[in-house]
Amino acid sequence: MTAYDMDNIFAKILRGEMPANKVYEDDEVLAFLDIMPRGDGHTLVIPKTPARNLMDIEPDALATLIKGVQHVARGVKQAMGAEGITIQQFNEAAGGQVVFHIHFHIIPRWEGVRMRPPASEMAEPDVLAAHAEKISAVLNAG
Ligand code: AMP
Repeated sequence: MTAYDMDNIFAKILRGEMPANKVYEDDEVLAFLDIMPRGDGHTLVIPKTPARNLMDIEPDALATLIKGVQHVARGVKQAMGAEGITIQQFNEAAGGQVVFHIHFHIIPRWEGVRMRPPASEMAEPDVLAAHAEKISAVLNAG
């Protein structure tokens, strides 16, 4: 099993060394927008504990993470007015993983609208900021 790399980009976001459009945070998980969204409001959820992917994460930490994914997915769907949600999770380079801190993709979907290809286009910063504000408002209400 390959060791966890403390310098991966999501570890840097967790340590506050890199900016992110954060939409939700609690003691266990952090959620922020993907900078190359496959759909408007594409959000990533990561655990605060280090794990490379599904293969090495402790089962209890995975259970906590998936609860966070459900919570964030509900908020993203409501905030974006999405008709559906696609969840993706990739493991190792051969499995499509690019950033080696486990994460779940939450991708809002609408009938007849295709997902953009992976790693295709950086979103405009003001568009990301507007989506983050919308999602954050729902997830952090009350
Ligand atoms: P993957 O490892 O294939 O599941 O995907 C990694 C995802 O992270 C891709 O969708 C990237 O667009 C996204 N990504 C890479 N760097 C950043 C960053 N600094 N902030 C937000 N998303 C990122």
